[in-house]
Amino acid sequence: MMEEKPLWPGEQAVRAAASPQPGVTRVAAIQRRGRWQVCARCGARWCTSQYVLPLGGTYCPECLGLGRVTSRDQLWRAAPPQFPQRSAAGLCAWQGTLTADQQRAAGAIQQAHAGGQPILVWAVTGAGKTEMTFPAVAAVLAAGGLVAYASPRIDVCNELFPRVRAAFPTTPCALRHGREEQAYGGEPLVVCTTHQLLRFYHAFSLIIVDEVDAFPMHNSRLLHAAVAQALLPGRAPVYLTATPDDQLRQAIRRRSLTVTYLPRRFHGAPLPVPRLHWCRAKTLTGGFQPLRDLIRRHRQARRPVMLFVPTVPLLTQLTAWLRQAFPGERVAGVNADDPDRLVKVQAFRDGQTSLLVTTTILERGVTIHHLQVVVWAADHHHFQANALVQVAGRAGRAAADPRGAVDFFYHRYTLAIAQARRDIIQMNRRGGFS
Ligand SMILES: [Zn+2]
Repeated sequence: MMEEKPLWPGEQAVRAAASPQPGVTRVAAIQRRGRWQVCARCGARWCTSQYVLPLGGTYCPECLGLGRVTSRDQLWRAAPPQFPQRSAAGLCAWQGTLTADQQRAAGAIQQAHAGGQPILVWAVTGAGKTEMTFPAVAAVLAAGGLVAYASPRIDVCNELFPRVRAAFPTTPCALRHGREEQAYGGEPLVVCTTHQLLRFYHAFSLIIVDEVDAFPMHNSRLLHAAVAQALLPGRAPVYLTATPDDQLRQAIRRRSLTVTYLPRRFHGAPLPVPRLHWCRAKTLTGGFQPLRDLIRRHRQARRPVMLFVPTVPLLTQLTAWLRQAFPGERVAGVNADDPDRLVKVQAFRDGQTSLLVTTTILERGVTIHHLQVVVWAADHHHFQANALVQVAGRAGRAAADPRGAVDFFYHRYTLAIAQARRDIIQMNRRGGFS
């Protein structure tokens, strides 16, 4: 934690050296306010009698993941970055054209950003959210500002990074998350997890938070504070999601958050509405005919199938069943703790495996052409309505093949299943489909 490399503009870090580099301000990492201790890195607050160290002093319990800060530490904060101004023309190399809906949303983003207002882009899955942010990003980069694409999910960051780098080929771009060893090197464009924003202070002119409602940002004070502190004063974030959580919906109702809707996918076809299949509990053990028939039909059409399960034991069970039921197919199972997770997803993307069983780690940020989606045990409490909407949104994303199938297998008809289906139908209506 105590490595003494110089800070890049906009960075903050705990440092031990007595004299900071020029342009760096020092603050006590933990400050006492009345009967509270407050962490200067993440804004956490706790009572002075809590989290006491054996030799006296206290430490912050909330941002431990980035290395412990104690009341004996100092936080160094480098001055905000200012990159050279450039011409906006030619900065963005993305060759596609925005649809009329996307252009309207892109305009709303730029307007909200200019006015320092937070904005939510409530876009259906597969709407082309990332592309809509390019005009605002190009404008900020041209003005010499620092831009972040931040997401609570590592998978989303990994999927975003190559697309962002390809869209802005002349701008150095960094990828930062807990599994990425490379340190920040002063790049004007950063793709990172929301946790990593705690390493910056008043640094970014623009932060785009993709999949803002996803775990672990859902209801997280820490991560929302990280976004606020990493932004330059007077700037506000741009939030993107297909499934805003209750807090965001409340903020829209209170009018403290501007919203712009994108109810149509970029290719203009409606969202696939999940088909429901009731089944007896634990039918898999005896061999399950409806699921077998469904997968056989998908595979006869040469389509890859992603099967979502709520738990790791079910993942193991379903993977074994598929291997035995479809000996001619290549089957893989992947969960959050799998060290080969990225390799397995890539193999599925490349068509080397045809049936992939996964937990909700792949519910977002994954686009695979011709994909068919099956949710096994959709009534499990791990499948909240937003997760089911996201999972269903993996199907039918390609312009060449916009009609994917989504099938939910369940035993109890839950509120989450009903709400997910209703949300999808409502968005289709808003998009002008009957
Ligand atoms: Zn803290």
